[in-house]
Amino acid sequence: MNEFDLIIIGAGTSGLPTSRVAANNGKKVLLLGEGPIGGKCVNWGCTPTKALVYCTHLYKETLKASKFGVKTGKVELSFSEAMDYTRKLVKNSLEQNEKRLASFEKIEYIPKNAKFINDSEIEVDGETFSAPALLIATGARNFIPPINGLENVQYLTNKNMWSLKELPKSIGFIGGGFISCEFASIFNIFGSEVSIFERNDRVIIRADELISKSLNQYFNEDGIKIYKNTQTSNVRSKNNKIIVKTNRGEEIELDQLMVATGFKSNADKLNINVSNVDLDHRGYVVVNEFLETTNPKVWAIGDIVGKQQFTHMALRESKAVLNNIFNNKKVKVKFEDIPYAAFTEPPIGSVGRTESQLKDAGIPYKIAQTELPHCSRGLIMQLNRGHVKLLHNEKEIFACHIIGEYADNLVHEIVPLIGVHNGWDLFKEIIHAHPTLAEIFSNLQK
Ligand SMILES: Cc1cc2nc3c(=O)[nH]c(=O)nc-3n(C[C@H](O)[C@H](O)[C@H](O)COP(=O)(O)OP(=O)(O)OC[C@H]3O[C@@H](n4cnc5c(N)ncnc54)[C@H](O)[C@@H]3O)c2cc1C
Repeated sequence: MNEFDLIIIGAGTSGLPTSRVAANNGKKVLLLGEGPIGGKCVNWGCTPTKALVYCTHLYKETLKASKFGVKTGKVELSFSEAMDYTRKLVKNSLEQNEKRLASFEKIEYIPKNAKFINDSEIEVDGETFSAPALLIATGARNFIPPINGLENVQYLTNKNMWSLKELPKSIGFIGGGFISCEFASIFNIFGSEVSIFERNDRVIIRADELISKSLNQYFNEDGIKIYKNTQTSNVRSKNNKIIVKTNRGEEIELDQLMVATGFKSNADKLNINVSNVDLDHRGYVVVNEFLETTNPKVWAIGDIVGKQQFTHMALRESKAVLNNIFNNKKVKVKFEDIPYAAFTEPPIGSVGRTESQLKDAGIPYKIAQTELPHCSRGLIMQLNRGHVKLLHNEKEIFACHIIGEYADNLVHEIVPLIGVHNGWDLFKEIIHAHPTLAEIFSNLQK
């Protein structure tokens, strides 16, 4: 049996970079992973979705160009060319990842499914491996809800939609979360008729109410039809179309249907019940702030820990876990107040708790709020929508929620101030260069 310092199960967003950093630090690594290396983010998550967001955003901006004296001629957006660009980007990233991985002598990579056979050994294809440290980085997969008839129609997910050849005339989304809303924005700009079936009274229910309500309003203004408080009771195919029946009996005919109803832990593929690693009630691996599981030889990072399922979180955990496995001085990982962005049209940037979370926790707060267009740069850019909101008390800033142009970047001004005991005072001292969009924050420095 080969000797390894570390076995990593899952060669995805978190597992792959962890293997490279460990090898660069002289560790001998066995990397076990089924599916394309790089995992979800590069192959069917962040990279391709944001590539399409960029194409559609550029198109939208170019349409406005004549207002600013820019003569462009006829502006067109080609679905097939944007999809080709996206597929090429993903293919190049995959090839680069493969080439880079092959150059590491200290990493042995087996592209196969791996599972525990006891609390310290892993089996791949009938072969058994062990190491002083085992790291689970197997992520989560799409959760497909039990909807009558769904198994008989060819529905899309964020995984298989990249092979679409033609722009659908109409597309519906089951679920109104971040992923649906990003795709809904994309297809709406391409010119498809877009519907979202959402069981709550608004899309992106997880966001602060102002942000979520504003997005609903903007989607309505932009022609995206939101079926709110709606359950999909039945789905069927008819003459190359997909018919979605709602709990209110409405029947909606669509060219394509995408299901984006959250994620499911991949722990069930690991034979984890023999590993002495505890799972929570949702099937995610239980870890403490040092990313240790209930088995002292096993650590876990990324979506499989079921906390903040973002790439930036997976990468932070990757860094921390290597330190915690190989060094005596452990570092903690913070799972709260993690910033995130949603690349909808317009985008969202958020950090910290929502108003309803603060209310539930019994924390008194004040609201400082302004409209994104209300600054010089907003005027120059002729912005007409967007909000910026801070939740704070006399000393501390609890949260920042933004919707509008560059919200995904703007939020980072507040990220370092969250939870800082004099964050509100520090914020009020910041001088913003004129005329930047970040100057919008000076409206709140009262
Ligand atoms: C459409 C979409 C858009 C997104 N956009 C963003 C974004 O803009 N920003 C952001 O921060 N996050 C985004 N995310 C989330 C982000 O992609 C994930 O949080 C991140 O990729 C999780 O990384 P991971 O390493 O935990 O899992 P993965 O990257 O999924 O890697 C897990 C790997 O383990 C493999 N595996 C599973 N079981 C086994 C087994 N038993 N043996 C061997 N291998 C196994 C899997 O095949 C996979 O390759 C997006 C997600 C989606 C779906």
